[in-house]
Amino acid sequence: SLPILIHLYLYKKAASKEVPSFVLVGPSGAGKTSFLTLFANGTIAETYTSQEPQAALCQLPSSTRSKEDRYRSEHDTSSRSQPKFHLVDNPGHGKLRHHATTSILSRTSVRGLIFVVDSAAISSAAGLTEAAEYLHDTLLWLQKRHTQGKTTKGPASIPVLIAANKQDVFTSLPTGLVKTKLEEEIHRVRESKSKGFLDSGVGMEDDAGKDEEGDWLGEYASKEFKFSQMEEHGVDVSVLGGNVRGDGEEGGKVEKWWGWIGENL
Ligand code: GDP
Repeated sequence: SLPILIHLYLYKKAASKEVPSFVLVGPSGAGKTSFLTLFANGTIAETYTSQEPQAALCQLPSSTRSKEDRYRSEHDTSSRSQPKFHLVDNPGHGKLRHHATTSILSRTSVRGLIFVVDSAAISSAAGLTEAAEYLHDTLLWLQKRHTQGKTTKGPASIPVLIAANKQDVFTSLPTGLVKTKLEEEIHRVRESKSKGFLDSGVGMEDDAGKDEEGDWLGEYASKEFKFSQMEEHGVDVSVLGGNVRGDGEEGGKVEKWWGWIGENL
């Protein structure tokens, strides 16, 4: 009968609408698994090292406004369910993780990338370098995707949240410093990559044919790297602090991250 057909139509229409997703990346131990667990369940269980990318269905809490909400009239009191999204964890290790990241990013209906950093770990030189190299490669991939997209249909740009996690830890750098330290270190990574020093296995001859400008992150040949340079490459970068874990029952401080997700959902 007709009502059944209408129901079926509405069901199919809803099902065909892909759930948007956000991809979690970052060095091992930064807190990605804890982040995913907290956002999906509202609590953190014991985390474990997983091999496969995991996805969890999450829902924006009623306290967080979504982008769509902005276009709603204040007098519109009709109840509307808060939007849902997938959080995809990418636990790849070593060199493989870059490939894993890019394959996830090209596959799913990605609304954003969440790069989780341990704000205490990056106070050490080794921790800072690891995070900056990973972030450099991720941002360069997004930059190239934008450049190539210009000539074809132009993929939707993917904004990046750098989640300065573990702000509850005594030795953590404050969010502002996490930002500037990463910018300085990314500049160093950028310089050494352009000199061909970083890939020890690759000889200088192999770099001769490289597109130097295309492999340069941000404003070409600039003396400093700033995340704001990514804007002209279609990548909006935000650095927001918080902690997934916290003292006591209430858990961590994650409101700013929810806010960012809401704005990009
Ligand atoms: P992953 O390797 O990025 O998935 O990191 P995990 O989620 O496994 O977290 C690594 C360790 O850091 C675990 O022992 C977590 O309990 C801990 N951790 C994660 N987030 C926080 C945080 O905000 N504060 C503190 N103090 N510890 C955290």
